[in-house]
Amino acid sequence: MKYLFPPPAVAALPVRGRDEQFPIRRIFCVGRNYEAHAKELGNQVDRETLFYFTKAAAHYAPSGTTVPYPPGTANYHHEMELVVAIGRAGFRISQELALEHVFGYACGLDMTRRDLQAALREKKLSWDIAKDFEDAAVVSAIAPASSIGHPRSGKIELKVNGDIRQSSDIGLMIHSVPALIAHLSGLYHLQAGDIIFTGTPEGVGPVVAGDRLEGMIEGVGDIALNIGAEEVGAK
Ligand code: MN
Repeated sequence: MKYLFPPPAVAALPVRGRDEQFPIRRIFCVGRNYEAHAKELGNQVDRETLFYFTKAAAHYAPSGTTVPYPPGTANYHHEMELVVAIGRAGFRISQELALEHVFGYACGLDMTRRDLQAALREKKLSWDIAKDFEDAAVVSAIAPASSIGHPRSGKIELKVNGDIRQSSDIGLMIHSVPALIAHLSGLYHLQAGDIIFTGTPEGVGPVVAGDRLEGMIEGVGDIALNIGAEEVGAK
């Protein structure tokens, strides 16, 4: 095959204890999966409705890097989340069999242009530019389920410059990992390489240039991100 220009590099996650990386196929994100977070953004808690948005794999940024403060926002937020990495394809997967499709788990930061999200939400418009932008999907190395099992509870925490901003427990998710996989696989043919951000607990807030984010999920691992200066001028 000849291409007009080099095809994009594959975005891939390191895997703890393995030389092989996990190539990212699609990035699904769950909205409002912790009651206290839904409330803090002024949303009704709706336990029946599950909704998603997506991020391009090209918008992945590895843990530990420095990303520029993004354009178009004055309210750039962190959302610390458990990420599920799908290792086996499946369609209409039952909750009972769902975990057999999980390769492992990672920590994720669903970085968000909150001011744009609020304005778009107000006008009932798509959130795309608020959620799916360059470096907006930060993910740590994957901890394989073969090593850590399938965590159902455990502390999830995010610090900014050493101060705790988010602190909760992944056991407080409204929709569990098996429930998410069962539901999402009724809408898409899940494939190896798909990852799912499972929603953030309360305590989301703004970051600015110079900030250092450090997150952890008990039994899964940790994640870090440095916020750099906003780019100025055109290239
Ligand atoms: Mn989120």
